[in-house]
Amino acid sequence: MAEIDLLLARAKEFHGDMCPGIVLGTRMTMIGMRELHMDPMVRNRDLIVYVEIDRCITDAVQAITGCSLGRRTLKYRPYGKFAATFINLATQDAVRVSAREKERTENPGPEAATALRDAPEEDLFKVQRVGVVIPEGDLPGFPKHRTRCSRCGETILDNKEIVAEETILCGNCARGSYYTEAD
Ligand SMILES: [Zn+2]
Ligand SMILES: [Zn+2]
Repeated sequence: MAEIDLLLARAKEFHGDMCPGIVLGTRMTMIGMRELHMDPMVRNRDLIVYVEIDRCITDAVQAITGCSLGRRTLKYRPYGKFAATFINLATQDAVRVSAREKERTENPGPEAATALRDAPEEDLFKVQRVGVVIPEGDLPGFPKHRTRCSRCGETILDNKEIVAEETILCGNCARGSYYTEAD
């Protein structure tokens, strides 16, 4: 079986179905790892990936690379774009792979997935060398910094507190939260 089909099978298994996004994400991951001289068949401890959307492609990235939020090797930036940046922590090399607009398909059926599997790389993707500075509080490893919110009292790890006029606040208290207290 061709390498792409082995990787597609792995992504499909994780995601639950074979859709155009899984094919795009698999190909993006293959390109990103190739550009970093990594083998997509082998987990690489030095790989960090920033994804710019929380849709199908992200599951392909996670399934193939083994990068995850919990390992701090997968980073999510909510930009709503079909793009991901692959970083080799050991060398600091980074490459951003994004899907070209014209290939966004309207019908998400199996024929679209097959067409995307076989289409020329340069028709589907833009590949850019980029620089990424990963903040210390976002790196894998044990937490180096821990503090407490002065308003809600909850513990905050990894430099995520917001300090204003010498007051330490968590993100929820400083910026407004995604939840409200139920009565
Ligand atoms: Zn999907
Ligand atoms: Zn708080």
